[in-house]
Amino acid sequence: MKILLIEDDDLVADSLMLALRSSGYSIDRFREAPGAEIAIATAPYDIVILDLGLPGIDGLSFLKQIRHKKISVPVLILTARDSYDDRIQGLDCGANDYVTKPFHLGELEARIRALLRAGCRNVTSVEIGELTFDTVGRVVRKGEQIVELSPREYAVLEILVHNIGSLVTKQRMSALLSDWDTPLTFNALDIVVHRLRRKLEPYGLKLQTIRGLGFLVES
Ligand code: CA
Repeated sequence: MKILLIEDDDLVADSLMLALRSSGYSIDRFREAPGAEIAIATAPYDIVILDLGLPGIDGLSFLKQIRHKKISVPVLILTARDSYDDRIQGLDCGANDYVTKPFHLGELEARIRALLRAGCRNVTSVEIGELTFDTVGRVVRKGEQIVELSPREYAVLEILVHNIGSLVTKQRMSALLSDWDTPLTFNALDIVVHRLRRKLEPYGLKLQTIRGLGFLVES
């Protein structure tokens, strides 16, 4: 899952990026709206975390602009503006959720998961073979036992499970997993998929590599 973070405060942005990356999300961060506008038009994001008080173009104007362009990605406003009028205005301008600073990281992550789930008809778990894919806990289980996956392995599997039965091209997978400044190479992707297959195929998950094209998890 790929997050676009628009936040001018380095302290807030750095701690968020550290926490969310360790949970397996890819994050592109911009300090100002104009850069984020280019990014959102060119990269596939699953969610946007948007500060309102930004230098130059304000967060609310950015939100209005992307909704005007019919960009429907879920937007979570993360701001110090905590009046009811601000909340109402943010939601009415097309935000999907509104969190005020200071925020609790655990709650913010739960709200992110809820927004991502809403895009998948609120499915909280998926069964594949002998495995249960728990999208709330962000873990894979065989019965009660957790199958140990790295955040990157989990992120690859999550994309495949959300597209179960369909080919996910290497280009799309790489775009979803790359950070703006550090692209994920096809070679690195092949290595992650190889490790995932070795870990999960004993439990009946069929992860196919379609040579030269991409990857597919059979339903
Ligand atoms: Ca700010």
